[in-house]
Amino acid sequence: MKSFLKMKPSLHPVKHQFSSSIVSWIEDEDSMVDISHFTDSEVSEDGYSHSNSYLSRNLHDMHISVRLIEEFMELAKENTSSNLETCGILGASLKDGIYYVTTLVIPKQETTAHSCQASNEEEIHATLAELSLIPVGWIHTHPSQTCFLSSIDLHTHFSYQVMLPEAVAIVIAPTDQTRHYGIFRLTDPGGMAVLRECKERGFHQHSETLDGSSIYESCGHVYFKPNLRFEIVDLRSS
Ligand SMILES: [Zn+2]
Ligand SMILES: [Zn+2]
Repeated sequence: MKSFLKMKPSLHPVKHQFSSSIVSWIEDEDSMVDISHFTDSEVSEDGYSHSNSYLSRNLHDMHISVRLIEEFMELAKENTSSNLETCGILGASLKDGIYYVTTLVIPKQETTAHSCQASNEEEIHATLAELSLIPVGWIHTHPSQTCFLSSIDLHTHFSYQVMLPEAVAIVIAPTDQTRHYGIFRLTDPGGMAVLRECKERGFHQHSETLDGSSIYESCGHVYFKPNLRFEIVDLRSS
């Protein structure tokens, strides 16, 4: 293991069994129940998203450990109490048509109360490549704002989703009384087209989508699972 891999002692150590079967990531397959498929008002009882984004129905499912949000909040705690954002990248493997998020990479980052920018992208790519992981999205905090994607977030997310239609943006907003977290993606084609055309930077307004849909939507293809192995690679102090 490289010296920059810094695991939290509470986590199950994974000795990079990434080339072995997916079963090795699941501690007890029999007890694996779907306890918390992410749902909200946009997803009906029948499990289908009623968004305008027809492509979202054809996405591969993504499985994420139930511990991800809690442990990310824990490592972001210091920033959050100082009203600073924290961001991380989700690394996954594709097995039998399902993306398994096994690793959260915390990059070196420049952060403010309303933005967070990874500062050494090469290091992130090298880490993911070494672990044979695909970047399938990102997670960040809004320490004092509500749970939404800002215009800057939308541009950040566009760069993920243009590479992988399944990519997700998880926002954690501890002070939002109605919704502590959300899992979002750009609508496709609506929001993707707006972002593809937008040349503005910084905080700005976006034009309406051509089909009248919202620019982004809650994801219907993400499932939280209790028994997935999960590790954190924290590059901030390396
Ligand atoms: Zn944000
Ligand atoms: Zn824009």
